[in-house]
Amino acid sequence: MRWEEGGESENVEDQRRLPVGMALGGAGTVIAVVIALLLGKNPLALLQQAQNQAAPPGVHAPRQESPEEARKVSFVKHVLFQTEQVWSDLFQTQVPRQPTYRKPKLVLFTGKVNSACGLAESAVGPFYCPADQKVYIDLGFYDELKNRFHAGGDFANAYVIAHEVGHHVQNLLGISIESKHRKLPRDTENQLSVRLELQADCLAGVWAHYADQKWHILEAGDAEKAITAAQAIGDDKLQKQGQGYVVPEKFTHGTSKQRAYWFNEGLISGNLKEADRLFSLPYDKL
Ligand SMILES: [Zn+2]
Repeated sequence: MRWEEGGESENVEDQRRLPVGMALGGAGTVIAVVIALLLGKNPLALLQQAQNQAAPPGVHAPRQESPEEARKVSFVKHVLFQTEQVWSDLFQTQVPRQPTYRKPKLVLFTGKVNSACGLAESAVGPFYCPADQKVYIDLGFYDELKNRFHAGGDFANAYVIAHEVGHHVQNLLGISIESKHRKLPRDTENQLSVRLELQADCLAGVWAHYADQKWHILEAGDAEKAITAAQAIGDDKLQKQGQGYVVPEKFTHGTSKQRAYWFNEGLISGNLKEADRLFSLPYDKL
């Protein structure tokens, strides 16, 4: 994948060096200063006090970032930028009722993170929280994708971000389990979840279609790599690895075959209508 084109997004929040719970420190500090101003106290003294309380010296002293890590961060910023550009264009040209795309933030963390959706551990994998409109990712997931699922590579990593951004697009468009339940009352919650996940894969494919048109990001074998990643994290494979057998009614993300299929549909067509089709097909025809 050629990802160096375009630019870096300014919407990446790096929380990798923050102890959990400190992530809101910035806002807390601002509030402390505002309160201090209201009470007529010296805000600087309060600020120092807050910092001393929050950060015992030496606990998270700045550490040196390896070139490999710096590359990963730059990669994430470039891919997020590309999603911002593509989705801003697509909203403007194809979503007349809502022509402005609101860009999500992307939070980098290590180990654990506080989101508006609760405290999350890296083990859950990258996720999107609709309540704060942020994508969360521990860069360690990329090592897991490569080593455990044998699905590494830049474009596979980009697909992961694009999938989470796909959930953001769904959120902006009001596509949720609740909204779709009215249309498909016979679907179980798990079945609706599968449709939403496959749609996020399809939207990731649509992104790749336009990003390739704009910046020629795709190199030989890239599409296959992303499809391998989509297959590797299908429910059937994950269940088999986790418990040794497959329980289709417990699926929430779709099978490996389905994930690869819908990603590819978006990639080849670049058509948002493909994503709509996911909610008009009978469940067993997905
Ligand atoms: Zn998802």
